[in-house]
Amino acid sequence: MSDAPQVICPGCGAVNRVPAARLAEGPRCGQCKAPLFQGKPLALDEDGFRRHLRLSGVPLLVDFWASWCGPCRVMAPEFEAAAKLLEPRLRLVKVSTEEAQALAAELQIRSIPTLALFAGGREVARHAGAMRARDIVAWAGRALAGTTA
Ligand code: ZN
Repeated sequence: MSDAPQVICPGCGAVNRVPAARLAEGPRCGQCKAPLFQGKPLALDEDGFRRHLRLSGVPLLVDFWASWCGPCRVMAPEFEAAAKLLEPRLRLVKVSTEEAQALAAELQIRSIPTLALFAGGREVARHAGAMRARDIVAWAGRALAGTTA
């Protein structure tokens, strides 16, 4: 991560540069004043995901899910709890594979839920199957430690 990574506002989508040392101090968007991290996963459609992937200096932890998937519903509150623990080191994102079908196909999401970690615009780790919050945090920590992003 650079000294002042780009942080995409979850409210208006504006690109903010935030000094790394201040990420944990509740930074707000320069455009709309919304908190840049809200302690919960950000639901993105395909375009939104691609924008974050291209611009975000903060690694993205993505939950690929679908409304009909029982294990996805079980994991949803665990993923939310993980967001509180992992922000602002990571941005937690939810992508519906029903809505973003082309994206899910391109990324070869074969089962859901699938968690994928993206750093520096590319995927660096993937896990298929539901996890508890503490396991999500541990897994993401290990995966991040293996990257230079
Ligand atoms: Zn904003």
